[in-house]
Amino acid sequence: MIVNEEAVKKILEEVKPAKLVAATKYVDVKEIEKLEKLGVTCFGENRVQAFLEKYENYHGNGEFQFIGTLQPNKVKYIIDKVTLIHAVDRYSLLKEIEKQAAKRDLEMPVLIQVNIAKEESKHGFEVEEIDEVFSNLKDYPHVKVRGLMMMAPHIESSETEKYFKMTQELLQRLQKEYPMYQLDQLSMGMSNDYHEALNHGSTMIRVGSALFK
Ligand SMILES: *Cc1c(COP(=O)(O)O)cnc(C)c1O
Repeated sequence: MIVNEEAVKKILEEVKPAKLVAATKYVDVKEIEKLEKLGVTCFGENRVQAFLEKYENYHGNGEFQFIGTLQPNKVKYIIDKVTLIHAVDRYSLLKEIEKQAAKRDLEMPVLIQVNIAKEESKHGFEVEEIDEVFSNLKDYPHVKVRGLMMMAPHIESSETEKYFKMTQELLQRLQKEYPMYQLDQLSMGMSNDYHEALNHGSTMIRVGSALFK
């Protein structure tokens, strides 16, 4: 796939003031650099090996974020190369990020993934577990939780909207109950439903296929 210039320009306008995280799993570094020329500054990768290969060959000024499911044993390869880990879905991952961040004396920004639609196949903490996670965050001082991430179920975008709303309301409640953390980010919305996500407070949309042709 290659960059669709018109689509990129349009989406960059539509997303404001939220942030476009371009999901670049479909393309190589050359296309990433084309996106950057059009004004995209943030790239989301979801496979560690592919990301590392691109990272080595990339010479731009953009930032990379890790948007996919991350195995704890791979944290050490990416922690000093990405600015945000979107999908923290297990305690073992939280623990490993804490360990690797402490080793390097850095604070790692992350989002907590919530399985808002209660799908069997989906990653993320259950809604019922979220309070336990947040009340345990003090045990992970090198992990800087900035908010929530969700993956919408594969259904009509009109149906998806209720899950965006539920995630937004969950974040609003967490902001009130845990004012000691800076919970200002909501990562939701992809190519087929980013408009609805933006209507429900998304601050970062992860859009891939709509940017390419
Ligand atoms: C690929 C991917 C996206 C973007 O999906 P599109 O439907 O191509 O926009 C978003 N989030 C994650 C985690 C992805 O892997």
